[in-house]
Amino acid sequence: MIPLTRRDFLLALTGFGLSACAGSHRSLASRSVKNGRIVVVGGGIAGLAVARYLARLSALPNIKLVEPNAYHLMCPGSNEVISDLRKFRELRHDYPATGSVHGVERIRAEAVGLNPQGRQVLLNTRTALPYDRLIVAPGVDFRWKAVEGYDEATSRIIPHAWKAGLQTLLLRRQLRSMPNGGVVIITVPGNPYRCPPGPYERASLIAHFLKRYKPRSKIVILDAKSQFPKQALFEAAWKEHYPGLIEWVSLEKDGNLERIDAEKLTVHTEFGSHRADVLNIIPPQKAGRIASWMELTDESGWCPVNPLTFESTRIPNVHVIGDACSASPMPKSAFVGQSQAANCAAAVMDLLQGNEPSPPALINHCYSLVCPDEAISLTGLYEYSARENQWIVTASGQTPINGDRRAEARYARSWLEALNQFLFA
Ligand SMILES: Cc1cc2nc3c(=O)[nH]c(=O)nc-3n(C[C@H](O)[C@H](O)[C@H](O)COP(=O)(O)OP(=O)(O)OC[C@H]3O[C@@H](n4cnc5c(N)ncnc54)[C@H](O)[C@@H]3O)c2cc1C
Repeated sequence: MIPLTRRDFLLALTGFGLSACAGSHRSLASRSVKNGRIVVVGGGIAGLAVARYLARLSALPNIKLVEPNAYHLMCPGSNEVISDLRKFRELRHDYPATGSVHGVERIRAEAVGLNPQGRQVLLNTRTALPYDRLIVAPGVDFRWKAVEGYDEATSRIIPHAWKAGLQTLLLRRQLRSMPNGGVVIITVPGNPYRCPPGPYERASLIAHFLKRYKPRSKIVILDAKSQFPKQALFEAAWKEHYPGLIEWVSLEKDGNLERIDAEKLTVHTEFGSHRADVLNIIPPQKAGRIASWMELTDESGWCPVNPLTFESTRIPNVHVIGDACSASPMPKSAFVGQSQAANCAAAVMDLLQGNEPSPPALINHCYSLVCPDEAISLTGLYEYSARENQWIVTASGQTPINGDRRAEARYARSWLEALNQFLFA
């Protein structure tokens, strides 16, 4: 195995310059750990990535990945499926039926609890997996009680489509059968939630679909926020491609959702009510439920972690990455999940070797399609500040207002293809 330094490793991941990703020169792979037992819970984007990095960084024979499903359905790309620009089957990636994933033993089970004193993960197969370091990456769940009138049962009629799967298909079907001249309402929760620019990409691509097939229709976005990511860029693209088709209603203009009347397909805000032909409720979110069963969450519903190592501040030897952890100012995105996975893998190896973990260097680069062949993007670089004991933004940027959106769309598709290759090939 070729030894990788942490810096090489992070640079290989990000493709960014040295100044962006300063780290130590310590060689990780050359000092492999023989006896560290590592368990990863969750085979989504962050969990698969961390398993892959760990396998690459170490000669550890004892890494296990716990994931109950036979396949993963990717959320990136799902807005294209909703608007008929991509096939649903392209979202699906099967795990190997037996054996290992990326050289890591895969256990097909659901984690249902934790024995922190005995350092064991409890599985629904009535087995207990021992660990020296546990990495938990369960993604998000929804706060069903947060919106009156909207719960899991209602979501089978009024989709959220914020986890890819049947929900994605349901929303697509409803859009296809909506009358020309109909109204689509998308409701957006307050921060933090999975993929902050995702609702506006969704509105853009639905607008593209409506412009083509049902041009008298309209989209209303009811937003619990005062502003949104890449706002000026989205609004410029909407004006250019879909004039008058998308109306964004901010928090101040009565965008906050109070309750839903599912039978009448009506949403009620503080001062008014809106009837929809297609209603897409993106509910408020929290860490995947196993995180609270393991007592890794705080009152926010997310998992607080040490910013140096992603180790839980509530339970030692347990790390949390991906959407489930509290990682402000980083957004909850696939790109960030992968970057956290790289840093967490390096930190776990340091800790198992008895070394002081090196400061992390993280990156987000988030693309949004505004029509099939144009995209916009946003970048953020994050480092650990010892003074604040927190991550801070060290650089950020976005597509210029007159930037090359066609080139960005090509990069967006290449990024997704590369991510799929990295996770599932
Ligand atoms: C519409 C949409 C579009 C998006 N587009 C983009 C994009 O373009 N770019 C981008 O960067 N991000 C995008 N995202 C965000 C991205 O999908 C998430 O940030 C990412 O999936 C988070 O990864 P994760 O590993 O934390 O969670 P997930 O990918 O959801 O994985 C969680 C995994 O944990 C497993 N799990 C849960 N509980 C248990 C348990 N008890 N035991 C074992 N396993 C368990 C689940 O089965 C799942 O496989 C988008 C999101 C949406 C909704």
